[in-house]
Amino acid sequence: MIEKSKAPKNRREISTRIEAEFLVSAASPKQYPQETFNEVAFAGRSNAGKSSVLNCLTGNKQLARTSKTPGRTQLINFFDTPLNGRLVDLPGYGYAKASQKQKAIWRANNESYLSRRNSLTGLILVMDVRHPFQPFVVQMLDWAIESEFPMHILLNKSDKLKQGARQNTLRKARAHISGNAMLGIQLFSAKSGLGLEQVRERIVSWFKIRTIKSPG
Ligand code: GDP
Repeated sequence: MIEKSKAPKNRREISTRIEAEFLVSAASPKQYPQETFNEVAFAGRSNAGKSSVLNCLTGNKQLARTSKTPGRTQLINFFDTPLNGRLVDLPGYGYAKASQKQKAIWRANNESYLSRRNSLTGLILVMDVRHPFQPFVVQMLDWAIESEFPMHILLNKSDKLKQGARQNTLRKARAHISGNAMLGIQLFSAKSGLGLEQVRERIVSWFKIRTIKSPG
């Protein structure tokens, strides 16, 4: 639930948020919740602003804090929404100080979720608009293309660029994914809320899809 003091101030804001409540953190598939609802997962290099995006989308600062709690950063965090769908925060990739062992755990956790979760309906990939298409992102893109999986890219921190540079990056990024109907891309700013309605619409449409993959 959104705390009273942090409740959206007007109707327009209400319509663009997705309320979310922490459900569970999982270190392995055994701890995942039942696949009752479609899930939309969020991935990104650490510091791209994934937590800020989730904050902005849900209007709930607690949400990102939950995922950033020490001990939970390497876990998969599940959040319930009232829209018959779940938001899933995947651990951020790219901690400079992460050991080889930590990186291996990260990879195993993410891969087991991404490859085996039948309720996973769409993936939101958060990147910093100033450093798009770094190796991690390209790897995720290749995976989405290969497995024909719906993915939507947020070019976050767009407020950091002037309008011309922003549009230029968007144009180049679109060219990068051109012609692939499963992939979407847009400008976003977790700071200003730019692009909030567009990503919300995408998520809600994924929540409404009956099934993407058949179980098994
Ligand atoms: P995460 O590691 O991907 O979860 O990234 P965080 O959400 O913790 O954000 C990393 C840093 O980028 C923080 O200092 C945020 O305040 C900042 N940040 C995130 N999104 C935006 C944005 O849209 N605009 C600006 N200017 N800063 C942002």
